[in-house]
Amino acid sequence: MFKKNLESLRAYDPGPSVDAIKKIYGLKHMIKLDSNENVYGASPNVRDAIINDALLPELYPDCENTDLRLELSQRLSVKPEQFLFGAGLDEIIVLVSRAFLAAGDSIVMAWPTFYEYYCHAQIEGATTRKIPCDKNGKHDWKAMLHAIDATTKVVWICNPNNPTGTYLSKVELDQFIQNVPKNVLVVIDEAYIDFVTANDFPNGLDYLPTNDNVLILRTFSKSYGLASFRIGYAVGSLRIIEEIGKVRPPFNNPRLSQVAALAGLKDDDFKEKCLKKNREVLAMTTSFLDNKSIPYYDTQANFIYIKTSEPKQVALYCKENGFLINAFQDGVRVTIGKMEDMKTFLNVLEKALLETSAEPSN
Ligand SMILES: *Cc1c(COP(=O)(O)O)cnc(C)c1O
Repeated sequence: MFKKNLESLRAYDPGPSVDAIKKIYGLKHMIKLDSNENVYGASPNVRDAIINDALLPELYPDCENTDLRLELSQRLSVKPEQFLFGAGLDEIIVLVSRAFLAAGDSIVMAWPTFYEYYCHAQIEGATTRKIPCDKNGKHDWKAMLHAIDATTKVVWICNPNNPTGTYLSKVELDQFIQNVPKNVLVVIDEAYIDFVTANDFPNGLDYLPTNDNVLILRTFSKSYGLASFRIGYAVGSLRIIEEIGKVRPPFNNPRLSQVAALAGLKDDDFKEKCLKKNREVLAMTTSFLDNKSIPYYDTQANFIYIKTSEPKQVALYCKENGFLINAFQDGVRVTIGKMEDMKTFLNVLEKALLETSAEPSN
């Protein structure tokens, strides 16, 4: 009765709710540092825009997302027709996989990287080549190039990469894109681009005029603090956007999500303040880790990957002490929280590393 490709997959497990965890461990407070949400919330303009909206609950929303599309088009200097909107990037990843992949096809992606690329390749019956990140947590782009063959339809680049926070420089990504065959789609997931400070970081949009096999993904979930509204977008050549448009459900962004995203987008001030605070807390965090000789990957995002041989135990210890973080194979990913929370967290983390007598894993 069931689809064979799904055998090896499991439904996304969000774990117990924050309220449930607080009860289990008898905690008054629980700080969420596990999903890279904006710890400063969203622009106050978003709330006003929603309250003042005409609502019109009986009508389907604008299928074209017109107002947001035009505003983004102006700000990014890209034609309005080059955008495709989704219920978060999660849905865009579904749609790209739907439109491009079938049994016998393959994708190439880094490992670790954003899990959904793999999940939806699997659902479509395609195979996945997971190319391990290098010792600095970076995409091994040369090995990724080697992994491309005649079956490869899509290559996923997550820049900066989730969960490592590392990035490919402009020089590296230039070479990568030049060498990918033009009949392979290169998707560059820039969910965290707003947090980037490195001067040699490539803006994926710059590749579009000369590479019609490149697709750029961005979201309102992270720097804009609008994760609950589920809205993200792809930017690409007309032929790619039209093709993906064939598999898009027509009314996939609720009216209020469109209103919220537009209000958030226009509040440059709020975003800048969040980014500035993120930089300050990140600097405090890395100097703490350096002082204690705790190994981590250099990050360009609003999270940091801290290496440990006992990630699960470390995450559990932190949870028991009021901080939710995420465990991976050889480290934990921690969202950069507010200054005071982060100071408390780092002391908890230091204890966690000692208690679990976890040897640094590098
Ligand atoms: C958070 C995240 C997404 C998904 O974001 P949406 O909330 O679905 O827009 C996609 N890619 C990466 C790398 C992410 O970290």
